[in-house]
Amino acid sequence: MRAPSTIEGMTEPSIFERIVAREIPASIILENERILVIEDIAPRAPVHLLVIPKTGEYANVVELAAGDPDLLAEMVSVAQAVATSTTGGDFRLIFNTGPRSGQTVFHVHGHIMGGWDAAGRTAEESLGHE
Ligand code: AMP
Repeated sequence: MRAPSTIEGMTEPSIFERIVAREIPASIILENERILVIEDIAPRAPVHLLVIPKTGEYANVVELAAGDPDLLAEMVSVAQAVATSTTGGDFRLIFNTGPRSGQTVFHVHGHIMGGWDAAGRTAEESLGHE
């Protein structure tokens, strides 16, 4: 569910809906009927992409899993396909869920992160300690 705007009964489009509508620019890696993959504007890994459903109906992955599990499965499949060509195949797929997890955009999106060197990440790093 999206945060209500100041005008009762209306909601502001999320930044990702505005990217989908081409109202603001983004570096688009892949687009299909229901999904967009873009480069994160503030990358925190050698490869840092965002897999985003075009619909702004779901605020987070929990809502998406309950409301449209096929779309969530497609996001994972698209993330894997993009990672094959951008990270060599290994990747992290992170869904921040809720403000205290660091979520800032309440339009569900997965962070595809990868591209580390051949030594890979240690177990501690892989749990998100940057
Ligand atoms: P989260 O903190 O999980 O909600 O992730 C939101 C992500 O969106 C952050 O990693 C931001 O760097 C990224 N972001 C915000 N605005 C843009 C934008 N205009 N284009 C690309 N990525 C963006």
